[in-house]
Amino acid sequence: MPGTLRPDQSVLILGAGPTSLGAAYRLRELGHPRISIAERNAHVGGLAASFVDDAGFTWDIGGHVLFSHYEYYDRLFDTLMQGEYTLNSRESWVRMFDRWVPYPFQNNVRYLPAQQTYECISGLIAAQARRAAGEGPAQAKNFGEFIDAVFGPGIARIFMRPYNFKVWAYPPERMNKTWIGERVAVIDAERALRNVILQADDFGWGPNNQFKYPNRGTGQFYQRLAQACRTPIALNRGVTRIELARRAAHFSDGSMERFDVLVSAMPLDRLVCDVIDEVPKRIREAAGRLLHSGGHMVGVGIRRPCPSTKSWMYFPEDNCPFYRVTYLSNYSPYMTPDRHTHYSLLCETSSSPEKPVNRQTIVEDSISGLEAAGLLEPGERRDIVSTWAYHAGYSYPTPSVERDDILAEVIPWLEERGIYSRGRFGMWKYEVANTDHCVMQGVELANRLMLGEAEKTIGIVYTVTEDGRNAAEHERPGVAGSGENRLGAR
Ligand SMILES: Cc1cc2nc3c(=O)[nH]c(=O)nc-3n(C[C@H](O)[C@H](O)[C@H](O)COP(=O)(O)OP(=O)(O)OC[C@H]3O[C@@H](n4cnc5c(N)ncnc54)[C@H](O)[C@@H]3O)c2cc1C
Repeated sequence: MPGTLRPDQSVLILGAGPTSLGAAYRLRELGHPRISIAERNAHVGGLAASFVDDAGFTWDIGGHVLFSHYEYYDRLFDTLMQGEYTLNSRESWVRMFDRWVPYPFQNNVRYLPAQQTYECISGLIAAQARRAAGEGPAQAKNFGEFIDAVFGPGIARIFMRPYNFKVWAYPPERMNKTWIGERVAVIDAERALRNVILQADDFGWGPNNQFKYPNRGTGQFYQRLAQACRTPIALNRGVTRIELARRAAHFSDGSMERFDVLVSAMPLDRLVCDVIDEVPKRIREAAGRLLHSGGHMVGVGIRRPCPSTKSWMYFPEDNCPFYRVTYLSNYSPYMTPDRHTHYSLLCETSSSPEKPVNRQTIVEDSISGLEAAGLLEPGERRDIVSTWAYHAGYSYPTPSVERDDILAEVIPWLEERGIYSRGRFGMWKYEVANTDHCVMQGVELANRLMLGEAEKTIGIVYTVTEDGRNAAEHERPGVAGSGENRLGAR
């Protein structure tokens, strides 16, 4: 079945992040002649951009790791990067009780003090008993109940609840459980007990768990993709108003552009509530109920050789503001002024109306947190040669309890009017909001418009089963960002 987009129809794309660039690239590849991109920022890449500071450190907006699930994306990455990437082994840890616990935490509770190990195991046994009595994760009405049903009170209290609040900035009771899929490692009491008694390590990572990282930061790939789109990209041109009846977009620079089809990767709530005129109250109010969190990124550049091989670390405790820190300098040799003498740490702290963060003090709070959590040694503060701060107003699209009902109302209303909202905040589905998902949301939309193919990524459903989850069905390459078969998953 051919698509609905005719060659004489113009496509206006809002944003120049991964979703938009994926859509533009594929539309060009399929031969569509009339495309333009308008981006509010002075740069391309959106949340996947990278920045070089005055001291020569390169920073991402949060540690970006490529977990591609798609052959098309992998080919694109390899074609555009021409080998200019570093292949890294994943090594992730949780910091708590002044020690390092290998991730996933729930598989490695033997690393905790004995009392907490006992609480975790006895909680898992209690959860198993509740499951046998018909109170399992399948019955959970929200993520909070899911946590209790899968992990029991010990792991919930010690790790899952505090950690998830730090990441999401909302209580887990406000979140649904459908996003979980592959993102939360579940475990049963038997396996946990075995790991404790046999002193077995049960890491979610290892030699087969590798990822590709562009040598000059995540954004390097998106700069290349932007060039490969062969499409005009107007920077510093944020859309401020869309007149639906005239099919006209107005921009911050005072200009106006007519369109036939609109592809938008800007936040869905802002598009519907602030930009499009004549939106019915019901649709506007629904979009206005979507929840999101913001993110404060703080980079700390240090003049010392890197003390660790770790990739990234999780921080559930309240002795530091951040939920995650990345040794970004371990991702590529080009992230610091000199890889032999410098290293860099990137801290991520979430915020929301329910979890305010002081923007004035976040850099100092992050450095103090690095000291409290044992990442900076006493006196190492003197060797900090650069700090970098970035605030993302929209960082995580919250998978709230009512999100899917909202999307089911708002997305079809837009599509009936030739407006396709896709991407991390365009579709608001955290479960398909990584860079590879977003590029493919754009690519698949182009395939739908030009070839009549169904979009797959936005529809991936993660079913929660009695054991806690089902993996989504899609390809799993062994080396993220490659087309190879996954070695460990067979
Ligand atoms: C803290 C953090 C960590 C992450 N870690 C990972 C990771 O490890 N791995 C991974 O694969 N992904 C990761 N991601 C996700 C990744 O950044 C996103 O998948 C990706 O950037 C989303 O692409 P997008 O195009 O949908 O949206 P965005 O990147 O948000 O791009 C949307 C664009 O729209 C523009 N825009 C907004 N309003 C307007 C307007 N009015 N007019 C015109 N343009 C507008 C914005 O300026 C932006 O450039 C992470 C994201 C964050 C925030």
